[in-house]
Amino acid sequence: MAGNWKMYKSVAETVEYFEKFRPLVAGVTHCEVVIAPPFPALAVAVEMTRGTPIRIGAQNLHWQEQGAYTGEVCGSMLKACGCTHVIIGHSERRQYFAETDEWIAKKLRAALAEGLHPIVCVGETLQEREGGKTSEVVSRQVRGALGGLDGAAVKLVTLAYEPVWAIGTGRTATTAQAQEVHAQIRALLRELGGVAVAGAVRIQYGGSVKPDNARDLLSQPDVDGALVGGASLKAADFASIVSAAD
Ligand code: PEP
Repeated sequence: MAGNWKMYKSVAETVEYFEKFRPLVAGVTHCEVVIAPPFPALAVAVEMTRGTPIRIGAQNLHWQEQGAYTGEVCGSMLKACGCTHVIIGHSERRQYFAETDEWIAKKLRAALAEGLHPIVCVGETLQEREGGKTSEVVSRQVRGALGGLDGAAVKLVTLAYEPVWAIGTGRTATTAQAQEVHAQIRALLRELGGVAVAGAVRIQYGGSVKPDNARDLLSQPDVDGALVGGASLKAADFASIVSAAD
């Protein structure tokens, strides 16, 4: 269960959040809990969650190990500041920062090389869904990211199916729509890596997950978790979504 804070929360707001959130998830053992704050708040988030089950992730990384890439951050920097996870290929990055499947594949390899747990986002736009292209688009994105990786590496990847039309819109995929695409992704994973790999990869759903719809979505057989944007910004709401994963 991962929370993506996007470009929200200062260092001070991060401290305030974890003071509220820590006790709410203190006893959680049924799932992993990850929060991805913006870069400037990563270090304080790691400090605030030391000794708790909460893990901290970044929202992006560059694929190079270092270099003249102004404004970018590499995997070793994230690792050194205590991150365990990193979100890769979020639709906002694909849409506003022109990230391609090729870049996402490189970022995924860089994350794995650094021992960071990658959460790779895939999902179709409204136009693609209405054009009957959901399966084609999602399959292209999954193959683009995972193609060429061996089964042991694929097992370390979490995929997040996030229909673009459901992100930040309040419009959630129905449980049937989510399950249908998750099952297709699982079938593709079987094709790419076999049954054991397909069973090991966690597939999260993302797109307007809230306390009142989380349980239904998470009860679908191929929905293994959630990537939560807006609702992860409120400690009580995200804690309630985390508890729905039991
Ligand atoms: C996200 O940013 O990954 C996301 C799913 O956002 P929201 O939950 O706000 O739709």
